[in-house]
Amino acid sequence: MSIADNIIALKKETDQYNVTLVVVSKTKPIEDIQQAYDAGQRVFGENQVQELVEKYEALPKDIEWHLIGHLQTNKVKYIAPFISLIQSVDSIKLLQEINKHALKNDRVIDCLLQIYIADEETKYGLSFDEAIELLRSEEYAELKNIRIRGLMGIATNTDNEKQIKEEFYELDTFFDGLSQSIFRKEDTFDELSMGMSSDYKIAMEQGSTMIRVGSTVFGARVIKHFRNN
Ligand SMILES: *Cc1c(COP(=O)(O)O)cnc(C)c1O
Repeated sequence: MSIADNIIALKKETDQYNVTLVVVSKTKPIEDIQQAYDAGQRVFGENQVQELVEKYEALPKDIEWHLIGHLQTNKVKYIAPFISLIQSVDSIKLLQEINKHALKNDRVIDCLLQIYIADEETKYGLSFDEAIELLRSEEYAELKNIRIRGLMGIATNTDNEKQIKEEFYELDTFFDGLSQSIFRKEDTFDELSMGMSSDYKIAMEQGSTMIRVGSTVFGARVIKHFRNN
């Protein structure tokens, strides 16, 4: 199937759940993204700042770009002028830096807190307790140029569907809890980004509002091997 066919098929599924499809284009060339764009896709996710900026400059300006990978504070300035959603916020320090550059650009930047739900050591993210602590802090209360729109999580990379389902269920429950407590007066805390190629169907059943899908659209990514010479 072509990139366009894959997008049309995915759209059919996400429309049933009223879920936003974020097409993850990391490592993929401009031509592939242009094909997805020509099929009507407008929301794309990248995980590296430099690659994101290059693609932003090369592609149509009505694309909504999401950052889905770990963000270093010293790189916020490069994406602050145009980024639509930073899905991977995992510290108050990073949030303060985003706020600073949003202010400089006269914007309010939408963010998701990345929550650690996987049973793995390597994933970034806040624990439930750390997220609550951040949201209750005085430092957070002072930030006027960022808006927390919801949460993002990555499930364990496993074939165990029951485990994946439980991890998404816990994140959805935490999200609901925050909606009814800390965010009860705001109606813009409404995004729960969970689900990728291998688990987006489970995620949609567990309350996801936004799935991040790469290989189902573009095919498998080539893994880069590093040599010693
Ligand atoms: C790469 C990536 C995805 C997409 O992964 P696929 O398995 O290709 O769908 C989703 N979310 C994050 C955070 C990623 O880094």
